[in-house]
Amino acid sequence: MDIQKIRKDFPILSREVNGRPLVYLDNAATSQTPQQVIDSIVSYYHGYNANIHRGVHTLSQEATDAYEIAREKIQKHFNIAKSHEVIFTSGTTHSINLVANGFTSLLKEGDEILVSAMEHHSNIVPWQMLCERTGAVLKVIPMDHKGELEMDAFRALLSEQTRMVFCNHVSNALGTINPIEEIISAAHAVGAAVLIDGAQAAPHMKADLQELDVDFYTVSAHKMCGPTGVGILYGKEEWLTKLPPYQGGGEMIAEVTFEKTTYADLPHKFEAGTPNICGGIAFGTALDYLNEIGMEAIANYEDNLISYATEQLLAIEGLKIYGTADNKTSVISFNIEGIHPYDIGTILDKLGIAVRTGHHCAQPIMDFYKIPGTVRASFSFYNTEEEIDVLVEGVKKAKQMLA
Ligand code: PMP
Repeated sequence: MDIQKIRKDFPILSREVNGRPLVYLDNAATSQTPQQVIDSIVSYYHGYNANIHRGVHTLSQEATDAYEIAREKIQKHFNIAKSHEVIFTSGTTHSINLVANGFTSLLKEGDEILVSAMEHHSNIVPWQMLCERTGAVLKVIPMDHKGELEMDAFRALLSEQTRMVFCNHVSNALGTINPIEEIISAAHAVGAAVLIDGAQAAPHMKADLQELDVDFYTVSAHKMCGPTGVGILYGKEEWLTKLPPYQGGGEMIAEVTFEKTTYADLPHKFEAGTPNICGGIAFGTALDYLNEIGMEAIANYEDNLISYATEQLLAIEGLKIYGTADNKTSVISFNIEGIHPYDIGTILDKLGIAVRTGHHCAQPIMDFYKIPGTVRASFSFYNTEEEIDVLVEGVKKAKQMLA
């Protein structure tokens, strides 16, 4: 991988922040956007901005074709059997809410649904709301201090009452890569459906959704070099057929009368209203960009980066890393004894270094470790060891100033 060439694709990486070269290490929150993706957004608005699926005119047909080609790119990238199993959404949060809403009519009082202890709030709250609506019970798959799920406890929680299991593929707060193959097969053995939140995994590894045999998988484009406000829900055809529509409106109907409305076929049944057309198209361009570099090359490069960063950071006295799973990627969550993470983040910003501080929308994890939050440095394939050196020096300086 020619990192210097890759970095030139990202205009933002050459800007300065507070008089210093930007060191962007908040990739788990959102990734940066290569010129190729920016160009695809510009060319849409320059050349063929129009509403899709409903116009006979040329612009509308061009926009429809580009949007549907993007759906096929996504289908191919994740090895999805049918393009109508790809539902465009505004991102992972929307995707999970769509499924949680759909299960309202499929669950009854006493049914059990299992969620892992290391979820983002968007993979917790919609299920709590579902439990309130249905009387189903939410049970938690515990984790240990390394930030790994306790798989024996998970197996013990599974029973004939278990209807669904939810887990992230990669934890945004700890970087743990969860053993989703085992989770999916154990859940299927008791007849439960599985939703995997792939928001944090998709930028770093290619999930083969047919091989995984997962029922639902969610992705946000903005974490993988695409724009904000667009993502997908993958659902197996049989599940998407069973679930009722989430929102009513234009695009999602077959026929509307005041007596009775019938719904469109997949994927349109779940795509009410005018979507983020340009965003969907640009998501396709982002996947082209990543695939040109190669997801395997990206994973290998990032593995080296995180090993280097872990080693360098641990050399700082008093620094503790949360999440030391054997299988992890691209996230280092840490604190320095006696210093609030927010204070470290503020000093790092003064030095041009962007990290995230706080609970990372995963408060239960912070409660588990009995901490208010962490400093999170999260890496992408366009980061370098030199940037990690700048981070390490910055953390040392923050420690000196604050201790
Ligand atoms: N799940 C995980 C693991 C995430 O990291 C995020 C984003 N931080 C989300 C869900 C929510 O994604 P979005 O805000 O794009 O809907």
